[in-house]
Amino acid sequence: RAKETGRNQAQYYEPAMQARVAERAAIETELRYALPRQELRLYYQPKVSVETGELSGMEALLRWPHPRMGMVSPDRFVGVAEDTGQIVEIGRWVIRTACAQARAWQQAGLAPLRVAVNVSARQFRDPGLADDIVAALRDTGLAPHYLELELTESMMMHSIDEVLATVTRLKGLGIALSIDDFGTGYSNLSSLKLLPLSHLKIDQSFVRDMLDQPNVSAIVRSVIALGHSLGFRIIAEGVETEAQLAYLRGCGCDEIQGYHFSRPLDSDAFTALLESGRRLQLAGAADP
Ligand code: C2E
Ligand code: MG
Ligand code: MG
Ligand code: MG
Repeated sequence: RAKETGRNQAQYYEPAMQARVAERAAIETELRYALPRQELRLYYQPKVSVETGELSGMEALLRWPHPRMGMVSPDRFVGVAEDTGQIVEIGRWVIRTACAQARAWQQAGLAPLRVAVNVSARQFRDPGLADDIVAALRDTGLAPHYLELELTESMMMHSIDEVLATVTRLKGLGIALSIDDFGTGYSNLSSLKLLPLSHLKIDQSFVRDMLDQPNVSAIVRSVIALGHSLGFRIIAEGVETEAQLAYLRGCGCDEIQGYHFSRPLDSDAFTALLESGRRLQLAGAADP
């Protein structure tokens, strides 16, 4: 009977695995044409101040509406692009596009906000990164302090000296640096302390579980206290409910991002949000 189950499983899993391998191959091939065919898009998700309920910034997120495969989410293609090295070129496009968009909003007279872009460890190791960023800022006219890079803890698994050299140069330009998905990776607290970070972003898996699991709520509270004592601001991602917001506010969390407030929006929808000048309704936020 066990043997039979085993065989059934083998029959069941093999096609699924083959399908995954085939999908990956298709993504890898199609990704080569994504930039030249101008298929990639950036969406923007608001970041909101817990205290005032006002927009505090936005995160640029890649979207790939593919003519045949439909909407391919970054979880399906960013890893592939990292493996093939294409992420360096795609990342360059992301930084340029995000800077140009942020500058365009400012020139349209809308509230100037900082735009955050995600930078993979693979991109961070590219020796041209800092020069590319300088060029993007110069060409678009965006002031450096309106750009933020969201880095991951996995970066720190590489030589801290190299990381520090790049980080110091970027920081020297006035660019903000933060750690994304905090708590999911390898965190060497002493190297964290060496980095001139502006924000720690608590990973959404903690936010998802914190109201059901006392351990997780304790971790969230402690991370916020720890981050504050190191001088970082804390942002929580993946906030979907009023109850999650209330808990985070009680812990002193500075900013939130999540569906509770807004999903990532295409640039037209984000423009409309900025134009409405609307203070996004965060229940319990201090009344102005
Ligand atoms: P991330 O940087 O941690 O981004 C947060 C992800 O959570 C985004 O998924 C966002 O759409 C999603 N999210 C936001 N609020 C909520 C919420 O309330 N609930 C839930 N369940 N999810 C929420 P997305 O856009 O699919 O991106 C996934 C990941 O792909 C990103 O995680 C980031 O690691 C990577 N990525 C996206 N764009 C880029 C990029 O331009 N460059 C690089 N290197 N990586 C990127
Ligand atoms: Mg991010
Ligand atoms: Mg994240
Ligand atoms: Mg994440």
